[in-house]
Amino acid sequence: MTHSTNTAVSVDTAKDVSSQCWSCGSMRAEHFCGACGRVQPPKPADYFEFFGLPPKLNLNVAALEKDFYELSRKLHPDLNARADSREQEWSLQQSSLLNDAYRTLKDPVRRTQYLLRLEGVELEEQSKSATEQARGTGEVKKQIVPPELLEEVFELNMQLEELRMQKKMGEDDPALLEEIGKQKLELEEKHDQLLQELQSYWKDWDSLVDREQSGAAVQAAERKQSLDKMVDVLNRRNYIRNLVRDVSEALEN
Ligand SMILES: [Zn+2]
Repeated sequence: MTHSTNTAVSVDTAKDVSSQCWSCGSMRAEHFCGACGRVQPPKPADYFEFFGLPPKLNLNVAALEKDFYELSRKLHPDLNARADSREQEWSLQQSSLLNDAYRTLKDPVRRTQYLLRLEGVELEEQSKSATEQARGTGEVKKQIVPPELLEEVFELNMQLEELRMQKKMGEDDPALLEEIGKQKLELEEKHDQLLQELQSYWKDWDSLVDREQSGAAVQAAERKQSLDKMVDVLNRRNYIRNLVRDVSEALEN
């Protein structure tokens, strides 16, 4: 998809020449009319568009929050106890869209995942069929071990296996527990580092969007390369998160 018609404008001043207020007719309006304040019917928009933002990953979360609260107030269904039932309905729809959009965009990982989905990319984790298949057979879904973790994961799995055996036998090995706890801590650190790595790729993507919006051509391969880097980080990050969860479970059981 292209976002070449997007411009970065604040929600209050976002204008669309084709839309006029359904009630007073005179004002151009986005979510609500600037003149009479009536809520307007929702237009098909992705979450970025909803906030009048270009699909860029570095975004001003403070400004987003401010827009969110302002829109929340103006779109709130209760506020208006709308005489017009259509407006009541639009108000509900817009409020729910607003909440979803805000929740998704304010979070760095959700924002990135959302953008990837908009771009037609599916993460391993989000592949629905794979998840359902795994659930159906009761199998643990196989994930690709990030190469840099091969050794660690191998080691850790051996230790977890040992731990399970010991627990079965009613034995207690503080040294093993300590070792596993240490590895878990390292994995958690790595998990945090991967968020930083992810964020370091945002500017590449954002500059592609800027170029596109300025009318320059962006090659599909270049786009894909930028997206692939983020997918790779997210997949590795999900892998580690699942691993940490497995370790926690093994320690608790
Ligand atoms: Zn109006």
